[in-house]
Amino acid sequence: MADCLFCRIAKKEIKAEVVYEDDETLAFLDITPRAPGHTMIIPKSHAANILELDDSKLGPTLLTVKKVTGTLNKAFQPDGFTIGINQGRASGQVVDHLHIHIIPRFNNDGGKSIHSVVNNPPVESLAETAKKIRQL
Ligand SMILES: [Zn+2]
Repeated sequence: MADCLFCRIAKKEIKAEVVYEDDETLAFLDITPRAPGHTMIIPKSHAANILELDDSKLGPTLLTVKKVTGTLNKAFQPDGFTIGINQGRASGQVVDHLHIHIIPRFNNDGGKSIHSVVNNPPVESLAETAKKIRQL
C-alpha cells in the first residue's frame, strides 16, 4: 500500500535501522525501543494483521522471528524475550501492517509477562469458552 508506513520502509522509501532482510521479510529496530535490541519483523507484502496475511508468507515471517531472536540473543545476551503482536486498536496496534515485536528481556527490567497486558477474565467456564471456539 502506497501510504503504509511499513510498506514504505520495506521499499526503502523511508529509512529504518534494518538488522535483517530476505526476499519476504524485513527486521528493523523499533524507533521507540522498550529495551535494548527491541526489533520488529514484518512481511514485505502488505497485510494489516495475521488474519490478512497470505498463508505462504506466514512461514517465512515466523522463520525470520526465529532467526532474529537468535541474533538478538547473541548480541544482547538477555535473560528472555517477549515476542508478540498487537492486533487492532484495542490492543495498541498503531501501524496497520502486521509486525511482530521481539523485545529482549532482562531479569528485573521492570517489565511483566504478556499476561499483564489485560485483566478481563471471562465469566463463563473454560468449557463454555472452548465450546464456542470448537463449534466454528
Ligand atoms: Zn503495509
